[in-house]
This record gives sequence, structure tokens and C-alpha cells, in this order.
Amino acid sequence: MKPAQFDYHRARDVSGAVRLLSELGEDAKIIAGGQSLVAMMNFRLARPGHLVDVGGLNILQYIRRESDGLHIGALTTHHDVESGDVGTDFAVLREAMRWVGHYPIRTRGTVGGSIAHADATAEWCLLAILLDARIVVESVRGRRTVEADSFFFGYYSTDLAFDEMIVEIVFPNPAPHAAVTEYAERQGDFAIVGAAVSLDLDGVAVVGGRVALAGVGATPVRSSAGEAALAAGGTFADCADAAAEALELEDEGMVTAEYRRTLVRTLVAEACSDALVSQGVPT
Ligand SMILES: Cc1cc2nc3c(=O)[nH]c(=O)nc-3n(C[C@H](O)[C@H](O)[C@H](O)COP(=O)(O)OP(=O)(O)OC[C@H]3O[C@@H](n4cnc5c(N)ncnc54)[C@H](O)[C@@H]3O)c2cc1C
Repeated sequence: MKPAQFDYHRARDVSGAVRLLSELGEDAKIIAGGQSLVAMMNFRLARPGHLVDVGGLNILQYIRRESDGLHIGALTTHHDVESGDVGTDFAVLREAMRWVGHYPIRTRGTVGGSIAHADATAEWCLLAILLDARIVVESVRGRRTVEADSFFFGYYSTDLAFDEMIVEIVFPNPAPHAAVTEYAERQGDFAIVGAAVSLDLDGVAVVGGRVALAGVGATPVRSSAGEAALAAGGTFADCADAAAEALELEDEGMVTAEYRRTLVRTLVAEACSDALVSQGVPT
């Protein structure tokens, strides 16, 4: 399939990009790595009249450790994170990249593109929810910061206005004992279910933690039931059972609700164990 006709605009800097978005209106779309948008255009699921190419804005391709957390520029690729220095506090970001598509996709696809695209099982969206990421967006009106838990509205739907561009994602909370795991039908496919866990430890004792799930609804969600089980001193199996049992699921095509619940139970337990050993804590 080929895309519908469009006009191509190459942005030279961020202010030029957002000016173009503002001038061209709702018929314009940013293209970054093109790994999701081009497929949607080829299938005519998206028909933008104008593409604003931000792929050359290297100024937004960085990973920086600052006093308020880890800052990742929107044009940073998945592979930049996979091969970059995120430190031990954010090693989960690097480790999670192996779940994103295949190597060629990771060398072109961007962190900002993943967050903006908001696929329900995208690893970056799951990580943003797990770790309370802040999404920094820019438009001709200036910059604003949106908390991850109010950024994702539903399937491919976010708080971004048509003329806004994501410029940076900030991960404020170090997560030295964290892990992501998932199940997909084939290596490199989007997951059916993904689970992410960040444990709080006192010495080697687990005293609480965060649990986030993807593939159980239109956006990734925290599992308050799973987190309550950890805070109450439950085992990883207790946490996994609580997370799975609390979900309201429906059969979807070949994936029954009970199959999805079993995946959640299995993957949460696995993510808890992986999180514990992620920095060498013995199980
Ligand atoms: C075969 C295949 C398998 C894949 N598997 C996975 C997977 O397992 N997990 C996963 O997470 N992803 C997967 N992807 C998608 C990949 O991660 C993409 O890189 C990502 O979803 C989008 O990033 P991009 O830079 O390519 O964005 P683009 O495709 O360029 O854009 C995607 C959308 O985001 C918007 N956008 C892009 N950048 C910005 C910005 N800075 N500000 C505002 N809006 C912006 C665009 O307008 C568009 O609507 C897969 C892709 C393919 C082709």
C-alpha cells in the first residue's frame, strides 16, 4: 500500500517545528522515526495532508542525568537508550528496550514518538506510568509539563494538542530494583500483556513497590491491588494473584479474559523476581 498524497516540511529547529504545526493546523502531523506513522499512512489509517519532519533535530537526542532525574530528549532512539549510559538507577529503561520491536526499528523509532503514539502496550508508555514520568511538550504558546498518569487518554489518544510537540521525557524517580517483562506471540511483536515492577527494599527485604500493567485496557495502568499486597508484606505470588484478580477483563478475539489474567499473574511474579535480582539482590 502507498500513503495518500501529502506535503513534506523539514523542521530546522524546535520553534520552527511548532510554528509549522500551528500554521498548518490539524491536517499536519509530526514524523520522527516514522516506525509507526508510515505504516499507518500506508494502510490509510492516517491521512495527514502535511508531514513535519523533526528527524533532523539532533538537539533533542540526549540522555542527561540531572538533580531532578533522568532527562531523555524526544528524538532519542530506543537504541540510544539500549546502548547509552542511564546509570544503575535507571537500568530498567535500558533493559526494557529489548522488548521493543526489532533492532532496525529500535535504531529509528524514538522515545517521544512512542509516547505520542500511545500504543496500549508500548514499553515506553508502561515505563512512564510505572515511574511517574513527566512529559514536556512545546507549542507556539510555550512549554508545559504533563504527568504521565494524566497524559494517556486511551488507544492512540493523549493530552497532546494538534500543534504541540513532545520535546523531553523526565523520569524523576530512580528505580534501582525494577524490571519489565512481557508476552508477545512472536519475538518483536507488540505484547499481549506487559508487566513492570519497581521494588522498594530495606536492605534485602521488600517493603513495597510499584506494579504497572499493559495490555489490560486502553492505556497502561498501575495495579493498586498488586502494590497493596507488596506493602502488606505479601509474597511475589500474592502480589501477582492480587494484580490478576482485581482486573475486569473481557474476551478479545482469540485472547480470552482468563488467558489474559493468567498472563498477568505469570508476568507480575516474573517481573517481581527479575526486579529483585536486577541489582544483584539474592532471592
Ligand atoms: C514491526 C514493528 C514492531 C514494533 N514493535 C514495537 C514494540 O514491541 N513496542 C513498541 O513500543 N513499539 C513498537 N514499534 C513501534 C516503534 O517503537 C516506534 O518507534 C514508535 O511507536 C514511534 O516512534 P517513531 O519515532 O517511529 O514515531 P513516528 O512513527 O514518526 O510517529 C508516531 C506518532 O507520534 C507522533 N510523534 C512522533 N514524535 C513526536 C513528538 N516528538 N511530539 C509529538 N508527536 C510526535 C507522530 O505525529 C505520529 O502520530 C514497532 C514498530 C514496527 C514497525
